[in-house]
Amino acid sequence: MEEPIDLLGLSSQELGDVASRILPSGAGLAGQIYSRAYEKGLLDLAGLGLSPRSESAWRERFDLRLLRVLRVAREGGEDGAEKAVFGLADGGEIECVRIPMPGGRGGKSTICVSSQLGCRMACAFCETGRSGLKRNLAAAEIVAQVLTARVSLGWDCGNVVFMGMGECLDNLSEVARAVCILGDSRGLGFSMERITLCTCGPGGGIEALRALGLKRLNLSISLNAGNDEKRDALMPINRGLGLSGLASSLAAYPMRRNFVLGVNWCLLPGLNDSRTDAREAAAFCARVGRCLVNLIPYNPGSSPIARAPEEAEIERFASWLEEEGCAVRRRTSRGGSIMAGCGQLGAPRSGPNGPSQARMGLTGDGVYPRGDVQGEGAGIGGH
Ligand code: SF4
Repeated sequence: MEEPIDLLGLSSQELGDVASRILPSGAGLAGQIYSRAYEKGLLDLAGLGLSPRSESAWRERFDLRLLRVLRVAREGGEDGAEKAVFGLADGGEIECVRIPMPGGRGGKSTICVSSQLGCRMACAFCETGRSGLKRNLAAAEIVAQVLTARVSLGWDCGNVVFMGMGECLDNLSEVARAVCILGDSRGLGFSMERITLCTCGPGGGIEALRALGLKRLNLSISLNAGNDEKRDALMPINRGLGLSGLASSLAAYPMRRNFVLGVNWCLLPGLNDSRTDAREAAAFCARVGRCLVNLIPYNPGSSPIARAPEEAEIERFASWLEEEGCAVRRRTSRGGSIMAGCGQLGAPRSGPNGPSQARMGLTGDGVYPRGDVQGEGAGIGGH
């Protein structure tokens, strides 16, 4: 017998189409079943007037696979970050982080999701990068992170950022499918303005994303260095196109007039926090167009490449950027104590209780939950 189709990998339109093709009857209820699925996190067929035959046909052909919640860790304080390790059907583990947004839209949180199990980009400051790529996540597994967080953990997800484990443009077809499913008005109904892709800028990725025409989707780039020698060392992906190729791709990206690119700068003391670094960052932004530099203090992970910056160092770098003409948003580093901070996702477990020193923590790209405002929620780092 064929495996049931996971509802979380389908739009409501697709569910209707597939149901009318493969079910003897009851396909007319697909929209209602879809809405219930996203409301309750299960395939709920009760009270719909389906015949027993029809109901069992639905159950044979469709199911809904939430993720197993393996561990959850919470930072102290009212606005502390929370992170969850989710178990995939094949035994893999992925991480998701919730960043509360006091004063944000409806007091909701930003949820940071993973797009891959591991990552092949090997950024020097990133725990996920050390593990290499195990596999891409399917769209259903990406959507399942948000729904599991809502239904099983009660997280109030107002914004979604692709800044957990993995490089989202390295898994673009499944990420794009997930973005469209997340935006389905019969399901979770996220507007594109509330979804942000964070990338390190693999060659051709930005062009491929642009070709999808998702005009209102937000984008941020993990920059971290403004000259090739330094960025090559921090982010090996730079050895391909270099900063000049990246700037050209980004300059050609905007599909709407008020687009602002998020430029994430994970501040690494002694590595990318000099006056020259600020000048080079500004020069890059000037080539690209409207940018907002998201300054994120580095959170040392299991193999730190720098210490955490001090407050005065962050202030100093922010003011240099401003003097160079950059719009800057400083981000409080969130999640560091639970390895949910910048560069920390995918760290090996080192504590007896798992999560606090476990495979939790964001990686390196910064967060931009809302497009033209780009920045609410930033500061957890990752990509
Ligand atoms: S920072 Fe992002 S792209 Fe770089 S290794 Fe980590 S997850 Fe991959």
